[in-house]
Amino acid sequence: MKTIDINKVVVPQPVLDLVPAAVARRLKLLPLSIENDLLLVAASGEDALDSVEQLENITGMAVDAVMADNPDMLAKALKRYYPDGLHSSRGENATLLFDRIVNRAMQLRASDIHISPHKSGGSVKMRIDGQMRKDLDLGEGILTELTSVIKIAADLDIAEKRTPLDGNINMNLLGDQVSLRVATVPTVHGEHITLRLLTQDDDQALAALNTIGMSDEHYAMLIQALADPNGIILLSGPTGSGKTTTLYAALRHLRGDGGRHLVSIEDPVEKPVSGVTQIKVDSDSGRVTFNKALRSVLRHDPDVIMIGEIRDGETGDIAIKSALTGHLVLSTLHTNSAAGVLTRLVNLGIAPFLVASTLRLAIAQRLVRTPCSHCISFRCPTEAECVEFGWDSADSGLKVPDVHGCSFCGNTGYSGRLGLYEMIPVDREIKKMIISGADEHDFSDYAYTRRGLASLKADGAGKILQGRTTVEEVRAAASSIF
Ligand SMILES: [Zn+2]
Repeated sequence: MKTIDINKVVVPQPVLDLVPAAVARRLKLLPLSIENDLLLVAASGEDALDSVEQLENITGMAVDAVMADNPDMLAKALKRYYPDGLHSSRGENATLLFDRIVNRAMQLRASDIHISPHKSGGSVKMRIDGQMRKDLDLGEGILTELTSVIKIAADLDIAEKRTPLDGNINMNLLGDQVSLRVATVPTVHGEHITLRLLTQDDDQALAALNTIGMSDEHYAMLIQALADPNGIILLSGPTGSGKTTTLYAALRHLRGDGGRHLVSIEDPVEKPVSGVTQIKVDSDSGRVTFNKALRSVLRHDPDVIMIGEIRDGETGDIAIKSALTGHLVLSTLHTNSAAGVLTRLVNLGIAPFLVASTLRLAIAQRLVRTPCSHCISFRCPTEAECVEFGWDSADSGLKVPDVHGCSFCGNTGYSGRLGLYEMIPVDREIKKMIISGADEHDFSDYAYTRRGLASLKADGAGKILQGRTTVEEVRAAASSIF
């Protein structure tokens, strides 16, 4: 019999509904998926075969089983999916419903839960791998109760419905500590609630630089730039492209080196990182602006300064001066491409020779989804795809993944994400080009044609052939660049 890691499974509600809670608990079987009238369940222990037979009799369906490799995990999963006293969503108590929603968000690895009111009733949506998915429709009555339950748990005033409120919830779900950041915002139909799932062990949640999807070539470029005692490393990409993850991973790498004083100026501080002095900018009140914070930071003798974002010439100017006075500066810029980074600082009004002498590495990145390993399939690329991604169409060994969707990935075909990157190290030629006022096109031409560096699209093309993402994902991610 095959075995399965139960923690990697997401069971859709319709599949759970096929097996009554009492039966699932008694037989210690967790339904996983249904395909062509064959119900697949996870089982454990010596009675597994006996239990499967009983389930076939009870449900009248053909049942196939895989062994859970850890019986305790199966027991825990059964409790999660079939909480005591909760059999259907009809007449469900709002507190239990809230537990069930958070449970499900954890199972699905969601980053956020959105509870939105509509004209009548509302819906629960979850953001998974960056994409919003509707999960549940709510009737008017239960929506009102649920909203109150959440606001009470977050210690918010339930009578206040006209202004946005913020709070936190710490809850214990079957032994797991869960923290949620709660934000409400009034809409025409009532209060919209956003719940962000926070991980308990923030250091663990901090990705290591070699796990976020960089090719060996890109990883080596970044490590080399981080080893520099001074200079500026700039990341670009749209919102949600994983820039913050990369910056934090870089901080984690630098912290591992030891011996350097790390300071970050952020708006807001997204994750607490031990070993880094994190300063929160309060731009709303104007008390702690980016520039004020940056100036005061320099008095604290940091070696490495991370600035959340260079938004204007003034911030750019201080960043450059910090780099000139012996600091390594990491920051982000709002441009689309690595070549765009090379022109942006000059466009912000900084003297080209200062940019040329301080900038070390320009990076652009995007996030793409990775195919679900349970339902991935492979095919030969089409002639058009070979042209598009620069593959040799005569090479019959090339395979690209297709996605389908199954119960493991909530029918999306994808599970998890990885970064696509392009990096341009500032060499002597690039310095000359910056000073002589080269444009984005000139930089791209030099970097990707003459130097033969991997552009974002080329990076994606390689990752498609490795089966780590799909043609569709790379096309969508890179569309803003080419
Ligand atoms: Zn799948």
